[in-house]
Amino acid sequence: MNINGKAQKVNTFDAIVVGSGISGGYAAKELCEKGLKTLVLERGRDVRHIVDYPTATLNPWEFPHRNRMPESFDKANPIATKCYALDEGTEQFFVKDAEHPYVQEKPFDWIRGYQVGGKSLIWARQTQRWSRFDFEANARDGAAVDWPIRYEDIAPWYSRVEKFVGISGNKDGLETLPDGEFLKPWELNCVEKHIQKRVADHYKDRHVIIGRCAHLTDPQQIHYDQGRAQCQARHLCYRGCPYGAYFSSNSSTLPWAAKTGNLTLRPDSVVHSIIYDDTRTKATGVRVIDTHTRQMTEYYARIIFLNAACLNTNLVLLNSTSRRFPNGLGNDSGVLGRYVAFHNYRGSINATYEGFADGYYYGRRPTTAFMPNFRNVNKQETDFQRGYMVAFSAARSGWQRGSAQEGFGADFKEKLTDPGSWHVYMMMQAETVPRYENHVRLSTHEKDPWGIPQLITSIDYTDNDLKIKDDFLQQGAEMLEKAGCKNISPYDDHRNPGLDIHEMGGVRMGRDPKTSMLNGHNQLHSVKNVFVTDGAAMTSTGTQNPSITFMALTDRAVSYAVSEIKRKNL
Ligand SMILES: Cc1cc2nc3c(=O)[nH]c(=O)nc-3n(C[C@H](O)[C@H](O)[C@H](O)COP(=O)(O)OP(=O)(O)OC[C@H]3O[C@@H](n4cnc5c(N)ncnc54)[C@H](O)[C@@H]3O)c2cc1C
Ligand code: SF4
Repeated sequence: MNINGKAQKVNTFDAIVVGSGISGGYAAKELCEKGLKTLVLERGRDVRHIVDYPTATLNPWEFPHRNRMPESFDKANPIATKCYALDEGTEQFFVKDAEHPYVQEKPFDWIRGYQVGGKSLIWARQTQRWSRFDFEANARDGAAVDWPIRYEDIAPWYSRVEKFVGISGNKDGLETLPDGEFLKPWELNCVEKHIQKRVADHYKDRHVIIGRCAHLTDPQQIHYDQGRAQCQARHLCYRGCPYGAYFSSNSSTLPWAAKTGNLTLRPDSVVHSIIYDDTRTKATGVRVIDTHTRQMTEYYARIIFLNAACLNTNLVLLNSTSRRFPNGLGNDSGVLGRYVAFHNYRGSINATYEGFADGYYYGRRPTTAFMPNFRNVNKQETDFQRGYMVAFSAARSGWQRGSAQEGFGADFKEKLTDPGSWHVYMMMQAETVPRYENHVRLSTHEKDPWGIPQLITSIDYTDNDLKIKDDFLQQGAEMLEKAGCKNISPYDDHRNPGLDIHEMGGVRMGRDPKTSMLNGHNQLHSVKNVFVTDGAAMTSTGTQNPSITFMALTDRAVSYAVSEIKRKNL
């Protein structure tokens, strides 16, 4: 690792971004647009928009196993195959269990996408803003620490991100789920509208809306300029969309950054740690392991954005030790790796609806109906802390249903084309309250294939989470009953934490350097040229799908970092 002056110059950039997923892609776009020569380091392989989506247009019968994974794969990947989105058409975008080991002190299903684009290729694209209640929650009930920002601080950044990304949605005027800059909304179908009305009739504080999602229902010039086009409602999104109709780093932010001429993207580059210079009291760069040659190289920059996704960002910081920071970079407070939280998805409800036999719907809508949290919003009113969002959808069963499968000849074929009865599926997305005990740390003896210490996950549910789950199962069933549904079956699937794929925390924002890692601009309190703007920065989890908030925090932090560079503070 003897780097001469020339090589050092070649390896020096204005900014380094670690990770090319949802938040890293956004950081790259903003940094490059603002004129900074930016190096994006991505541990996974390159995935080029369109050309590297080999399954995007395949029919089920064109897959060797009809789009299902063979048993041998399931056996070899007990963690990854728990994710509903993994099948023969998408498996190339999911981490395989054996290739990237970690230690589960308590069961935690860590679902990952290691490639250019990260999980932006395989996310479900739901994008609900946080509300003022979410940023105030910790201060209100005294859990964890107070957020150093409020809704007003982030609202303009949500707007900027929404316009660029393209978010479809309806302006519902709800304080618990603020409106944004929306493209045309998707439509609720007739049974969902019926449930919406019945819920409104019975509960003044519960509102059913169509989910806001990162799909181009009505592309604007800014989206055409990115080379993207209108969504076709095919819902094959997890394979990569050849139209670029849903937002991914690959279709949107990375090509946009590349167009500026300021982007250097280096796939197959695992960031091992951040280099800290004790004399200059700042971070100077990162150590990178090439996944092909296994060689370690150093890259240098004035500012570093960590966007490796929550748990990997924790890992990189924990692994960045120096004389000044023996317990991980910026870890003066001792809270690095602590207060990791997630979303509780344990409860779901199935039901049927008799009626609307002449009702159907257009295409395969890539979103669902939502109900923003209605628990403990203005004051504490239950015996549990916080609350949950409800998501549900209604659909008619298809030709695969049991009763359609018997018969012969023309009558049989005719019967197969009839849609079956309506069924409703409802699920919860509950907040979990960050706790000191829920943490990640580095193993002292287990290493990954690159010689980096493996991450230990020690994250669990609490009694509060179980109470929330019971409340959802009871309230959800009651709402479906009031809506006239039948055969209502509440279900606790006892899933492990992690399978929600909304892990957050460990490098939390806060006002006080003694109890938090980052300030209100996502800047390490004690290493000012390092910014963390992925889920690791979150001080609490809210009940909303989190990625749009990661992007808004990123946009805001980049703007701040660049202004600090201009003021010569960085
Ligand atoms: C099936 C599924 C459905 C989801 N649905 C939604 C949804 O509807 N709404 C929502 O808001 N969120 C959803 N999510 C979660 C969403 O994908 C994540 O919140 C989001 O991708 C996080 O963005 P990120 O930039 O932090 O991480 P990622 O997008 O995961 O990107 C991180 C990148 O960093 C790279 N990396 C990691 N470690 C290193 C290292 N040491 N060196 C170099 N590179 C590294 C990774 O390879 C990866 O490319 C879903 C996720 C999945 C899998
Ligand atoms: S539903 Fe829309 S975003 Fe998804 S694959 Fe089809 S066209 Fe692309």
